[in-house]
Amino acid sequence: MKLLIVEDEFALADALRDRLQQEKYEVDIAEDGITGHELSMSDTYDLIIMDGMLPGMDGVNIIWEMRKAGHKTPVIMLTARAGLTDRVKGLDAGADDYLTKPFEVEELLARIRALIRRNHGPEENLLCVGNIQLDRKNGAIRNSQTGADVTLSGKELKLLEYFMDNPGEVLSRGKISLRIWGHEDTVEYNNVEVYVSFIRRKLKFLHANLQVKAVRGLGYRLVEEA
Ligand code: CA
Repeated sequence: MKLLIVEDEFALADALRDRLQQEKYEVDIAEDGITGHELSMSDTYDLIIMDGMLPGMDGVNIIWEMRKAGHKTPVIMLTARAGLTDRVKGLDAGADDYLTKPFEVEELLARIRALIRRNHGPEENLLCVGNIQLDRKNGAIRNSQTGADVTLSGKELKLLEYFMDNPGEVLSRGKISLRIWGHEDTVEYNNVEVYVSFIRRKLKFLHANLQVKAVRGLGYRLVEEA
């Protein structure tokens, strides 16, 4: 699960990130509204924690723009104590929940879990597409027909998980690199290609009926062979 925190109070954002990482979430931080808007519109996060007042562009506007563009990523808005209108505006714009500052981190964690459950159902350890089962816990894939399995490295696992969570959907290289490497790292595009080739090799080794196909000029998609 990959989360985005859009928050200009760096101490708060940093503390939240540490706590969320302890809970095994991956976390990116945007420290201003412009970056927050750009990353929110990338549609690569499973949930966004959005501060209301931000330099550059406020949280309500970002949420509004996201919903207008059709992005359904769940958003929890953080609002100031006195900010009743902010809260109402945020919910009207399409925020799914809100917390008033200051808040208990445990409460935020509970709300994150609730929203993720609502969107994904209970998180399954086993992800199945075609004849391939991916075990999120032990980082292995297995052919459900033959029983053969191989382990994946951390980045291979993240990448295949991303494909298997979105079967058939074209994922651009930009989205993939943001999802796997995060926005802080500069990644050469051919890193994406390298990891796609690793995954292809492992799928082939397992006689998977799945293929990662290149879609010229657009990216890649996972297709199940008939
Ligand atoms: Ca703020």
